[in-house]
Amino acid sequence: MQSLIDNARLFPKRAADRRTDLGRLAEGQHPEALFITCSDSRVVPTLITGAGPGELFELRTAGNIVPVHDAERVTAEAATIEYAVEVLQVANIIVCGHSHCGAVGALLSAGDLTAIPSVQRWLADTEPHDPVRDAMTDADGAAITSAVQRHVLTQLDRLRSHPSVTARVDEGRLALHAWFYAIDTGVVSAHRPQTGTFPPL
Ligand SMILES: [Zn+2]
Repeated sequence: MQSLIDNARLFPKRAADRRTDLGRLAEGQHPEALFITCSDSRVVPTLITGAGPGELFELRTAGNIVPVHDAERVTAEAATIEYAVEVLQVANIIVCGHSHCGAVGALLSAGDLTAIPSVQRWLADTEPHDPVRDAMTDADGAAITSAVQRHVLTQLDRLRSHPSVTARVDEGRLALHAWFYAIDTGVVSAHRPQTGTFPPL
């Protein structure tokens, strides 16, 4: 913890050394994209994309799960998505899954999660026929990667259930992207709708 405190204390100096103009950020933000990914500490969106302060709006959830829009139930995720689309008017939403994901691993193993009931309920919020669960019978490495990639595509479908997203996509002002990040190699793959594959960027 002490190193975190020390680094936070020295942050203004480091920013100055890098000639980062923090004062400019007080004028507002104009992020290019909403980046939705897992809370996993090994996935660092700004490191992966090279985005600086003000360039990436982030939403992080366990297993990068996006709740289906529900007019009767407000969620932090829905509010974050709506703010990014309606207020910040981001032109892109990226949903990025990753290898070695603990949350998706829990889906795969279907182990006993009663000791962590919130996680259990959160994962239970995935589709009844979630492709990750469907891959349980064929869980070699390639199959898991493929299953996680389809899991990301499922989250894109769920994004489209949010009215603000649907409206902007239909107007051609918002593009949705499905990415997959390999923790052990750093390679980022992106879904190509034309071929249905995830080649490296
Ligand atoms: Zn994860």
